[in-house]
Amino acid sequence: MVEASEEVYSSLHRRFKGELLRPGESGYDDARAVWNGMVARSPGLIARCSDVSDVQNAVRAASEVGILTAVRCGGHSLAGFSTCDRGMVIDLSRMRQVAVDAEGRRARIAGGCLLGSIDSATQKAGLVFPSGVVSHTGASGLILGGGTGWLTRRFGLSCDNVEGFTLVTADGSVVRANSKENPDLFWALRGGGGNFGVVTEFEVRLHPLTSVVLAEGLSADIHSLLKCWRAFMEEAPLDLKWNVDLRLAPNTKKVPSELRGRPVAGSSLVWTGDPEAGRPYLERTLSLCNPDSVSSKIVSFLDLQTMADSDFPHGRRYYTKSGYFAHLDDSTIDRMVEAVATMPSSETQIELAYLGGAAARIAATETAFGDRSAPFIMNLLGSWSAASADAGNISWIRTLFNQLRPAMKPGVYVNFMSDDEQDRVPEAYHERWDRMVAVKTHYDPNNFFRLNQNVPPL
Ligand SMILES: Cc1cc2nc3c(=O)[nH]c(=O)nc-3n(C[C@H](O)[C@H](O)[C@H](O)COP(=O)(O)OP(=O)(O)OC[C@H]3O[C@@H](n4cnc5c(N)ncnc54)[C@H](O)[C@@H]3O)c2cc1C
Repeated sequence: MVEASEEVYSSLHRRFKGELLRPGESGYDDARAVWNGMVARSPGLIARCSDVSDVQNAVRAASEVGILTAVRCGGHSLAGFSTCDRGMVIDLSRMRQVAVDAEGRRARIAGGCLLGSIDSATQKAGLVFPSGVVSHTGASGLILGGGTGWLTRRFGLSCDNVEGFTLVTADGSVVRANSKENPDLFWALRGGGGNFGVVTEFEVRLHPLTSVVLAEGLSADIHSLLKCWRAFMEEAPLDLKWNVDLRLAPNTKKVPSELRGRPVAGSSLVWTGDPEAGRPYLERTLSLCNPDSVSSKIVSFLDLQTMADSDFPHGRRYYTKSGYFAHLDDSTIDRMVEAVATMPSSETQIELAYLGGAAARIAATETAFGDRSAPFIMNLLGSWSAASADAGNISWIRTLFNQLRPAMKPGVYVNFMSDDEQDRVPEAYHERWDRMVAVKTHYDPNNFFRLNQNVPPL
């Protein structure tokens, strides 16, 4: 019997302008690798599209044959949704054009862009697009799920800054979605993930910004730091983003020797307002929480956006669980502090961020994105190297998540979900679920796009 992927290849190869890669061919092994080393899959065909018509042809050919199809931008899906075994991957890595309209403060971003491709292009005009904190992350997956980062409190989520989408839907048509054309689809694409089609272009708003103030602190007294942080953030100005990571302090020169290897809270504060005023403000703010070390500096936006890149390398093993808290109560803090001491990997962290700001000012009904009102987002991010350590690390994350779960608000940010949480997708969209299902049923009645935080059609 002919493999389905071979049927797709036969139907595609004469009209395909990009690259078609099959197992055993040169370049295939590199092309099949995704960011999370736990996800080692072997697609039957990787279709590296060079333009929109390649995407249309790939979707039509796959749909006719009925082959399982994944869509990949940056390959950073924590759950591993952008690859599959034996099926086809629509790979957008050749589509990384960014066209900036400096005067209009707008850009057109192609569907295969990484965050770094956008930042380098927009910074040439002194402008920014609010996105995530690691430059090798794919922009499409991040924006479609929502997109949080250093600028979220000031300018909103990434999806809040999208004015229009162009996508190839399940029947191979090119469809536009914006406030005037297909408004229901426009609503669903802002937070609804990859459920509705292959986005080939985003039209986005940009904002002027070239540098920020960054202050960092390390605290061995995690309890005090978290109590101070949770109180401070309630009244914090929009210009301040303050993220906290709980972890075992690394054994590096940057860390005071008495803290190395100990449970610590790392604070990273970014100030997007006037830098001269911001620096003393940040140091004062952080000092209120009595950290063991504090530093501050003015950094370029490009340095800010790349400073965490090497902390999250491709190919390491990752597992995640995430949730929202309306309040961070004392017993939740106690539980987190106890857990840090038992972390099975020094690369693992409990990431905490406070949303609020511009993201929370948009009405819950305006986009499909999950909960804008729950200010605390927690992400338990397990990271380790050896496959033999999978079970211990995954079990540590699951156990802690189950202990913290009763204090969480229902809801989850889809981009921080793992592959064993499909049952939480309705929870992610809660009161928006029925509308999501209706849009999905209209645009993808056969669930062609199902390798994602899936919203099944009726
Ligand atoms: C190192 C790292 C840092 C991160 N930092 C942040 C952060 O700061 N803020 C934040 O909000 N999130 C962050 N995330 C989570 C991130 O938003 C998700 O992992 C996101 O899915 C990554 O997008 P991608 O394009 O790389 O993913 P991919 O793996 O390529 O795709 C992810 C999903 O999106 C779909 N998809 C991809 N491209 C398209 C397209 N063009 N059209 C339709 N569907 C598409 C895929 O089918 C898949 O379901 C981070 C993740 C990692 C690994």
